[in-house]
Amino acid sequence: MQPGSNLWQAVLGEIELSVSRGNFMTWFKQTQLLKYDDESAVIGVPNVFIKQQLERKYNDLITETLKKNGLSPERIEYKIHTVTSRKPVDEPLDTGTMRMESRPEQSTYSPPRPSSGGPGNSFSHTYRQGINERYTFENFIVGSGNELAYAACQAIAASPGTKYNPLFLYGGVGIGKTHLMQAVGNAVVAAKRDARVVYVSSEQFLQEFVSALRFKKISDFTEVYRTADILIVDDIQFIAGKEKAQEEFFHTFNTLHQGNKQIIISSDKPPGEIPGLEDRLKSRFVWGMSIDMQIPDFETRCAIVQTKAGSHAVELPTDVVEYLANNVTTNIRELEGALNQLLAFCEMRALEPNLAIASGLLGSAKTRPKHISAKQIVERTARHFQVTVDEILGSKRDKDIVVPRQVAMYILRSELHLSFPKIARELGRKDHTTAIHSVEKIERELHLDSDIREAVNNIKELLYA
Ligand code: ADP
Ligand code: MG
Repeated sequence: MQPGSNLWQAVLGEIELSVSRGNFMTWFKQTQLLKYDDESAVIGVPNVFIKQQLERKYNDLITETLKKNGLSPERIEYKIHTVTSRKPVDEPLDTGTMRMESRPEQSTYSPPRPSSGGPGNSFSHTYRQGINERYTFENFIVGSGNELAYAACQAIAASPGTKYNPLFLYGGVGIGKTHLMQAVGNAVVAAKRDARVVYVSSEQFLQEFVSALRFKKISDFTEVYRTADILIVDDIQFIAGKEKAQEEFFHTFNTLHQGNKQIIISSDKPPGEIPGLEDRLKSRFVWGMSIDMQIPDFETRCAIVQTKAGSHAVELPTDVVEYLANNVTTNIRELEGALNQLLAFCEMRALEPNLAIASGLLGSAKTRPKHISAKQIVERTARHFQVTVDEILGSKRDKDIVVPRQVAMYILRSELHLSFPKIARELGRKDHTTAIHSVEKIERELHLDSDIREAVNNIKELLYA
């Protein structure tokens, strides 16, 4: 393993949360930390365009994130660095897009030429351009929240185009949508080396489409997508509102679907709730199967932490595993981020990870004294939202009251780990299913809605102040 690779994984994990997926994939995905000391950090990048972009646009973000992870070099250098040991399938995801984007004077759009097939040419490579070998079924942990999606993806990988077509996966960020869809791609390619698997984010689809229009290469563009055996489109919500691209996608969809080619789509919301998405697309997206993915439960999160630590050849003590799984309940990406942060911290100081280090690093509510009562939580929540405790405990269904009530339930769960029936009782309710619902809703909204996030943080501050 590269020195500092855990540290860099931690840095990338944080950056991934603060830039768009498209930007992350294009500019950060293939970088690595080559060297670091107090004077400088040397970041390896695959080409000059990425180097320039990182220098000009992302230097501050990188500096800041490095600092958060305990590294404050005087300067950062970006160095072009080719990884020779990589296999061709691992090559840059979208060299085509990048070339078009960065050097507009060069008007060559060169998609694959399916007719010129044959081993060793660009053909099979390009069809797999978006597939990352890192995401497999083997390293995906199945549990509540993702088991249905997992089963559907496995069925599809076994016989693409026959069962759930399209498959539509939706849910908040960082819960494994991309991982599962990529796993299908990898499994299909493993079974049939020349399968035409195309993985693309809707942002990338859009960018390529715009470039193809600009360089009058639309038929080449069309051909790549319409001759795929499996088309995987990630985060489709970003195509919403883009009229021409939606139309192009509509036709692509129809061609593939009629030819019994598998289509897999992901989004942050169910098709019907994506604003700006054309109705005819919405209706097609529910032709097959739509699955709601959720953050896995505590036990599954523990298994994920254990497995990920294992892949870094680290065996974590059980209390540390449980601590992480207990404290990061928003999504798996953050859970991974927390783990990477811990591993990087320990790696740099040659320490064995333990509970004290983990809790010191995450510095979360769990480590603080547990003298908070349920009553205080309800009271602080009411105060934050400027409603009364009686209103929260009452039965009014106005949104102004319902949201604070749900947030209170969420905090009772996340801070005091109360059971759902207990949460219901604290709020003067008999039925605990509402509590389950409310907690899940707020968990989901935490990463979609910054107001909710702020409210929860604020209330926690009030509680522990
Ligand atoms: P999404 O596309 O839903 O935003 P990702 O698929 O990118 O989420 O997942 C975020 C991270 O969490 C990835 O590194 C992924 O490998 C990991 N991950 C998510 N769910 C699981 C799981 N069940 N088992 C193992 N890793 C997971
Ligand atoms: Mg994703």
